[in-house]
Amino acid sequence: MAFDRTFNVAERREVDRAFEVAEARAAEFYRIPGREWSLFLHDLQTLREGPGPHPGAFADVVKLESTGTDTRPREIYRIRVRDDAILSALSSRRDGIQFFPLMLYVLTHEMVHVVRFASGLAAFDAEEAARESEEQRVHRVTRQVLSCVDDEPLRRVIEAYRSAPATFGPRGGRSPKYA
Ligand SMILES: [Zn+2]
Repeated sequence: MAFDRTFNVAERREVDRAFEVAEARAAEFYRIPGREWSLFLHDLQTLREGPGPHPGAFADVVKLESTGTDTRPREIYRIRVRDDAILSALSSRRDGIQFFPLMLYVLTHEMVHVVRFASGLAAFDAEEAARESEEQRVHRVTRQVLSCVDDEPLRRVIEAYRSAPATFGPRGGRSPKYA
């Protein structure tokens, strides 16, 4: 398995497009009006832009703290995508899983985490047992968020990963500072 590839320019654009759809679906599902989105500070990073989750995981979420001098510190949730794990899964599977629907599924999952952490529905620093049940819940919610999307390639992804939460990495360590 090749673990040295990162997204090319076209793939990176698809990631951004999938991220926009994932954000919109999550906002719609949780009925977050546009003006309140700024309360859910988050961004996205691929391997070219910084470290990702442990090898093999598709993505995770880490919590950062902004350190702007003129504002008080705020929490920012960063979704970290592991390019090589995504690309390797796509090239090794033989069931017709496609890039965009897989990214949409992965990023919707991580956006559900972000909304639940940022709104206090889930604790970022939870104990192991609570983390596991939260992970199962996020898997269920992700399917609900995407249930209104009538798209066969996306259905295939949802079915393929229905019982594979391990590919969605455990949350990484807390990063103390965010510049
Ligand atoms: Zn997860």
